Amino acid sequence: MSIPIYTYDAVIVGAGLAGCAAARELQKAGKKVAVVTKLHPLRSHSGAAQGGINAAFSEADSVELHEFDTVKGSDYLADQDVVQFMCEKAPETIRWAERMGAAFSRNEDGTIAQRPFGGQSSPRACFAKDRTGLTLLQTIYEQAFREGVEFWDEWYVADLLYNEGKVYGVSAYNIRNSEKAIFNAKAVMFATGGYARAFKINSNAHANTGDGLSLVARHGLPLEDMEFVQFHPSGLSGNGVLISEAARGEGGKLLNSLGERFMEKYAPNAMELASRDVVARAIIQEIREGRGVGPRKDAVYIDLVHLGKEKIMERLPELRDLAITFLGLDMIKEPILISATAHYSMGGIPMDKHGHVRKNNTEFVEGFYAAGECSCSSVHGANRLGANSVLEALLFGRFVGKTMVNEVDSIELHPASEADAQRMIDEMQWVLTNNGQESVSALREELQQSMTDNAGVFRTAETLSKQMEILKDLRARYKNIRISDKSKIFNTELQEAIEFGHMLDYSLFIVASALDRKESRGAHFREDFPTRDDENFLKHTMAYMDENGNIKLDYMDVTLGRHELKARSY
Ligand SMILES: Cc1cc2nc3c(=O)[nH]c(=O)nc-3n(C[C@H](O)[C@H](O)[C@H](O)COP(=O)(O)OP(=O)(O)OC[C@H]3O[C@@H](n4cnc5c(N)ncnc54)[C@H](O)[C@@H]3O)c2cc1C
Repeated sequence: MSIPIYTYDAVIVGAGLAGCAAARELQKAGKKVAVVTKLHPLRSHSGAAQGGINAAFSEADSVELHEFDTVKGSDYLADQDVVQFMCEKAPETIRWAERMGAAFSRNEDGTIAQRPFGGQSSPRACFAKDRTGLTLLQTIYEQAFREGVEFWDEWYVADLLYNEGKVYGVSAYNIRNSEKAIFNAKAVMFATGGYARAFKINSNAHANTGDGLSLVARHGLPLEDMEFVQFHPSGLSGNGVLISEAARGEGGKLLNSLGERFMEKYAPNAMELASRDVVARAIIQEIREGRGVGPRKDAVYIDLVHLGKEKIMERLPELRDLAITFLGLDMIKEPILISATAHYSMGGIPMDKHGHVRKNNTEFVEGFYAAGECSCSSVHGANRLGANSVLEALLFGRFVGKTMVNEVDSIELHPASEADAQRMIDEMQWVLTNNGQESVSALREELQQSMTDNAGVFRTAETLSKQMEILKDLRARYKNIRISDKSKIFNTELQEAIEFGHMLDYSLFIVASALDRKESRGAHFREDFPTRDDENFLKHTMAYMDENGNIKLDYMDVTLGRHELKARSY
């Protein structure tokens, strides 16, 4: 069977905010571009973003304050040149999105409204009710479509075409009928989104399985700062579905079983609006010390009743619906139950501020770019502030797209051949015909539960070492899977088995990187090393995987700048 080879100037994997924004730039500049996406673009997780997108443009605010908050929030691990770039370009990005057609919520006087989010010196999050991501995604997708970008929806990218320091395309199959193809291009961008699905309690879409990261890592390329997983303070109790930080931004109070507003103890100034890592740890600490609420005593309350019906219906209608649907609790009448949920991943495919993907600390991969949550620039360092990641996806998507416009003509096309599809074909064939005893869904359940238990909000050498053994065992058992659906049409069992392989691979990076970072910084909290150690660990982790799943760690310098290292308190 011959496999078609489609040739483009640029191929973008992922159709969330990052992918759509980049594609639009390329197409508008007259480049031939394809977006390959396993979901319909509007089902990308960007559409689930509720709370907001940051930009400093009010009188009380400034770009410098936005930078400072971001660097402090990052626990000083962010690269300050990248932070500066993002904060400077943020106001322009909002105006650009507005011109594209995004309808932001407004103040009485017609100016764009901004709400406070955690760790902010001034209210900075622009929003469209509590449907900010959906509004932006619909707008940018529409504009990319209008420019004539070719979208290959429901095509699953299964391999990166990489040879001797150069990327020249991807191989993919059509989820609808298993038809295979090669996308050959001068430039490839990965915008494959987040990957918190490795944890049992998480806020992410089912599709957030980190495929992009392990596709890169399997070619021996590095992943950066993978130990930093953000646990959001407010996931609905029991399932982790997100109650946006907007709920605290609008005035939500956190209460324990004694009715205490416990954030007074942990962050007396910022209270509920301390940064996410601080609030998430406070919640888990209250629960550990026996002051949890709810049927399993594994949650705390967020109380919004005092906001009144009108404000809740105007500002937080979707959050109210979620709590009614999943918990049967109406936030207009009663407090609702929340706890920490794995939410965002600071680590990812290492890139510089222009989107060039790193081959190692000093070299770059030719023809390869990244943007959005799958990338690590590192603009969020050890902890991302709320409303900075929709900004990151949209802004870097757009600007990395511009970089590609400028560079693509000088990149030589490395022609792909049918043989480039072999790794994909072998993997699909293996999953379809392997005749073992293990079920993928049972293995996935074990992975997620153990990652939450051993590599979650609180970590120690003991829990992480234990998790490493569990991962090795799961990897061995993965070789022994069997799926029952052998069909070619919408074979979700096949897809989930491939995705689970990715989850296992990047989980290795999370745990190995966390085990060797013997300090606590941002979202990475080691109970056996509870303080930040700038002398030994003010550095980025660069991790590499060999064919046997062994992880080798290296480190890379942090780019410091005008915001000096300080102790972090809220
Ligand atoms: C519930 C929730 C609420 C959030 N709220 C906010 C907020 O209010 N403010 C904020 O700043 N941030 C928020 N975030 C984070 C933010 O939404 C994301 O970081 C950001 O939208 C990611 O955008 P992206 O373009 O990188 O990826 P995504 O939008 O996740 O898109 C990823 C794309 O990659 C494609 N893809 C992945 N793997 C493959 C493959 N193998 N083959 C083909 N295609 C593939 C998918 O089809 C998809 O199109 C929230 C996140 C969640 C989960």
